[in-house]
Amino acid sequence: MRLLGDAALVAPCEPVTDFGTDLARLVEDMFATMYAANGVGLAANQIGVPLRVFVYDCPDDEDVRHLGHLVNPTLVATDGPVLRGPEGCLSVPGVEAGTPRHDEAVVEGLRMDGTPVTVRGTGFFARCLQHECDHLDGGLYLDHVTGLRRRRALRAVRRAGLRP
Ligand SMILES: [Zn+2]
Repeated sequence: MRLLGDAALVAPCEPVTDFGTDLARLVEDMFATMYAANGVGLAANQIGVPLRVFVYDCPDDEDVRHLGHLVNPTLVATDGPVLRGPEGCLSVPGVEAGTPRHDEAVVEGLRMDGTPVTVRGTGFFARCLQHECDHLDGGLYLDHVTGLRRRRALRAVRRAGLRP
């Protein structure tokens, strides 16, 4: 797992152009890594692969489970109120911060066989979709945390031995 401070997390990822067995293997590795770390989402650059791919197994606020992967995803719409809720990241272990996110998100992308797909999320799953799209653009959820919450989160980051 690449941790905060690693260059792989801040470089924007490249689109996938080869939909072969390497991509299938990558998605499989990403699910295994995510489950081993008890995460609800994982972007490819978090394991050092600079490609636009993420996986998720994430509940929404109605406890509906959303399980899947997206290749070359684009966040095409956000809507609903902006809500501040607890958010964490496998690349920033042990740290959580109240982060503002839209309550609804729509992401368009492809499955690993190249089939187009549209994924809609609300609540915590919408948060997950926005979080993973950020990763692929070289962003982190902490970029959205401001003021006192940010100072508190950065203190926790340093206590965890990471470099903000
Ligand atoms: Zn993350």
